[in-house]
Amino acid sequence: MMLHPINHAPTVIIVGAGSAGLTLAWKLAAREVRVLVVEKSPRETLGRTWVNGVEERLFADVGLPRPAAPLRFAERERFIIQAPGGSRLVVHKPAVAEIDMRHLSTALFAQARLAGAKFRFRTKATRLRVRDGSVTGVVLRAADGTEEELGARCVVHAAGHRPLPGTAALGDAAPGGEVDPSDFCVALQEVYAISDPAAARRHLLAQHLEPGDSLSRIGVRGGYAISNISIDVEKGEVAFLTGAMLKQGPQAARQMLDEARHALDFVGPRLFGGGGLIPVRRPHDKLIAPGYALLGDAACQVYPAHGSGVATGMRAALLLANTLVGALRSSDPLDEEALWPYAALFMRSRGALCAAAEVTRRFAESLSPADSDALIERGLLEPAMSQAVLACLPFRPPLHRLPALLWRVLGSGEFGWRLLRALRRAAAQERHYRRFPATYSPQEFHYWAERARRG
Ligand SMILES: Cc1cc2nc3c(=O)[nH]c(=O)nc-3n(C[C@H](O)[C@H](O)[C@H](O)COP(=O)(O)OP(=O)(O)OC[C@H]3O[C@@H](n4cnc5c(N)ncnc54)[C@H](O)[C@@H]3O)c2cc1C
Repeated sequence: MMLHPINHAPTVIIVGAGSAGLTLAWKLAAREVRVLVVEKSPRETLGRTWVNGVEERLFADVGLPRPAAPLRFAERERFIIQAPGGSRLVVHKPAVAEIDMRHLSTALFAQARLAGAKFRFRTKATRLRVRDGSVTGVVLRAADGTEEELGARCVVHAAGHRPLPGTAALGDAAPGGEVDPSDFCVALQEVYAISDPAAARRHLLAQHLEPGDSLSRIGVRGGYAISNISIDVEKGEVAFLTGAMLKQGPQAARQMLDEARHALDFVGPRLFGGGGLIPVRRPHDKLIAPGYALLGDAACQVYPAHGSGVATGMRAALLLANTLVGALRSSDPLDEEALWPYAALFMRSRGALCAAAEVTRRFAESLSPADSDALIERGLLEPAMSQAVLACLPFRPPLHRLPALLWRVLGSGEFGWRLLRALRRAAAQERHYRRFPATYSPQEFHYWAERARRG
């Protein structure tokens, strides 16, 4: 194997061309930062191969037009949540766009390339290069086995939840870490052709569903597990999404999807799809180190209540781009102080909502099938709440509604108290994240992290 010396160093190397890394590349290149994105997959297979629900308002915030087909996979009129006993809650016009991730990646790639970002596909970052406590570059391996060491003022790990090899050389300054297996959700999303449209229509009628509905069955295998189905007879497609905590078994999502699919007599050949693990925990405490930042799944920037990482990672990319543009001008080297605004801005905003949603996820895991029904039947879960949760927005019920809500919670016995405790813990965690240290202070950060760990 050849080891080439550093050549034509970019200013920022982004490892991973997922939605988070591509957004960062676009936003940095647009502000004339020399960016190189390294991606282990070929250009032709860029992006996740399935459909994700992404908050509708993200697109304007990031600077993309309102998504249309084929980027938008479907328009949903109703999102129906159904508990194991059959109780249903209907969310009208969910503020979430169903996005074909292959097209989102293509759109983001085009923007980044147009802005001047450079790309190396079929190239894997095999190790971080660390000197004197700072990340100074990466070791890359091309598809033909050639190795190259490349330096940059900042390396961004946007390559998924696994830490990059070499991180340990940062010692106590190392950000992130391994995700505990109990914090993984295993998910699968697949789209199939409809082989018998008449049978599909009969099924919709029998299930009291309308075209454009998405049916989300909750509590199918443990409280957090979901099995969603959306039938589009006009388009001739049926989409499935299943997810469960990894402790339900690595095959849980596959099994649930196959069960849902085999229960229908109109499902034809598979068209596309894919699956994997989602880190459904609060964001890592430490997002940066000298010359280094974590982004997207690498930072656990996922909304744990429903495992949504796309919008969270893309929003974080905007914050990181702003921080980097300023820091690259004013700080050399890029130490923790220089990169801290990214961490502080993220943790105090979306990070706080994610931390609260981790508490919600743990509560959901504890739900029995009867509890899931009680949530809907007793009006503890309302359409407005579900709409907020779907769109990753904080739910603040209007003051005049609070007494009635509290009455319902207290009238639900032991289950109501459990819910109340979870809501209180979620609110406390959100408040704590909103007090993330505004400037870099190792001691202040240490106390903050200790308290965050206790939850
Ligand atoms: C089935 C399923 C359904 C989901 N549904 C939703 C949803 O509805 N809404 C939502 O918001 N989120 C959803 N998620 C989660 C979401 O897909 C992820 O959170 C999001 O895609 C993470 O984006 P990312 O850019 O951080 O990482 P990724 O998309 O994982 O991108 C990382 C990239 O890095 C590359 N890479 C990895 N290692 C290296 C290396 N060493 N060197 C170079 N390149 C490397 C990979 O090839 C990949 O292209 C779902 C996940 C699954 C599995």
